[in-house]
Amino acid sequence: MGATHDVDTSSSIDVLIAGGGIAGVEALLGLREVAGPRVRITLLAAGRDFVYRPMAVAEPFSAGVARHVPLADIAADAGAELLIDTLVAVRDDTRQVRLGGGGTRGFDALLVATGARAVAGVEGAVTWWPEGDPDSYGGLLRDIDEGYSKRLAIVVPPGAVWPLPAYELAILTAGEADALGHDDVQVTVVTPEHAPLSLFGPEASAAVAEELERAGVHLVTGAVARRAEGGLVLEPSGERLDVQRVFAVPRLIGPAIEGLAADEEGFILTGEDGRVEGAQRTWAAGDGIDAPLKFGGLATQQARVAVAAIARLAGVDDPPDPGEPVVEGRLLVGGHHGRRLRPGGGAKSAPLWWPEGKVAGEYLPRWLAEHGFAPPPTATPAAPDEGIPIRRHVRAMAGAEAQYLFELRRRYRINDPAIASLGRAMRAMESR
Ligand SMILES: Cc1cc2nc3c(=O)[nH]c(=O)nc-3n(C[C@H](O)[C@H](O)[C@H](O)COP(=O)(O)OP(=O)(O)OC[C@H]3O[C@@H](n4cnc5c(N)ncnc54)[C@H](O)[C@@H]3O)c2cc1C
Repeated sequence: MGATHDVDTSSSIDVLIAGGGIAGVEALLGLREVAGPRVRITLLAAGRDFVYRPMAVAEPFSAGVARHVPLADIAADAGAELLIDTLVAVRDDTRQVRLGGGGTRGFDALLVATGARAVAGVEGAVTWWPEGDPDSYGGLLRDIDEGYSKRLAIVVPPGAVWPLPAYELAILTAGEADALGHDDVQVTVVTPEHAPLSLFGPEASAAVAEELERAGVHLVTGAVARRAEGGLVLEPSGERLDVQRVFAVPRLIGPAIEGLAADEEGFILTGEDGRVEGAQRTWAAGDGIDAPLKFGGLATQQARVAVAAIARLAGVDDPPDPGEPVVEGRLLVGGHHGRRLRPGGGAKSAPLWWPEGKVAGEYLPRWLAEHGFAPPPTATPAAPDEGIPIRRHVRAMAGAEAQYLFELRRRYRINDPAIASLGRAMRAMESR
């Protein structure tokens, strides 16, 4: 539990945090620490668990798991009420939300941190995402083992995406094929980016490209892939790619909460202080807002921006300044010549991103470490000099590449009927 301050709690304000993900939990823990008894907090969450995804890519390879942490434990620790329901609509003027269960709830300050929704971005491909069908990738690995699948593509769709898992899946799959004794399996990654992870900067791109080459993964950049007879057709070149199986990482769309300003894909529009455009008492943070990159380490920073504003509203004079948004981590590349996936997992088969199982943040990583769910923030990777450190200001993501990716997002609109119907099918599958 955070700091207690000597304040009159009868004047405390009601804060509603919607979303029990990375941004929501960072905000919950941060607000309690920063504002103490000046806030009464309710965490409104769609599910009972906080799901920690960074290691989810490794699941089909038995090399790691997405962790589940009961939100009840986190809420109890932060002295917050936990309400299991969904946010459907917001009335900022009357300070009320409408819930999926039919009820309403009032607030003095609201933080919307309901994340993005994953939808299929490539028609005819199997979309891999952590909450999807766990057997979709397992089936492919069995096919490789039995010699049925020799050529496969992993596609990054245009639009808002979290691209890193595509590269990780490709490298892990190539390693698995190799380990199974199938050296004739060709894995190709197709991405609209002009270089892998282009928004992370040239060093990261070069390092990932080198790692793909080392793993024998073929890379096609600057291309949007569509499923066609016998494989894929690549736009704008019109070139065809002959593949038997196509996997894609999902495209992300915004939460489209009724009553909140949003762009055409439902991403919530916010100002620099995280406040929703046109609103007085509603803030938003995380993958669900209109930001150039969707990333857990950014979601926590955006959550702390909102925490500072809400704490000020609650009467805290000088809340901690969360600083500029920065993407931080380490790409586990280089020196991995022996990198090979061993059935049952192993240190060398870890995904590309370090800290594995950790997301940069202030309050959430500390809580997870203190409760044994993640390595302590000071822990060093197995080989401290391994890989390259990434530290990139979000400001630096506004160049020509960001503009090109943004334009692609508009050109390949999510309201393309094919994409929308796939989205519905995925949501139906998800709720089953
Ligand atoms: C495979 C994979 C690996 C990743 N690895 C990393 C990594 O290593 N490092 C990193 O920094 N980032 C990583 N990311 C990205 C990171 O997971 C996201 O950027 C981050 O989770 C965004 O946080 P969020 O709180 O906005 O959304 P989420 O974490 O998605 O949380 C949103 C929450 O809101 C809930 N919710 C949704 N709708 C409603 C509603 N209407 N009402 C109430 N609750 C609702 C959801 O159930 C969920 O709990 C990875 C992503 C994927 C897919």
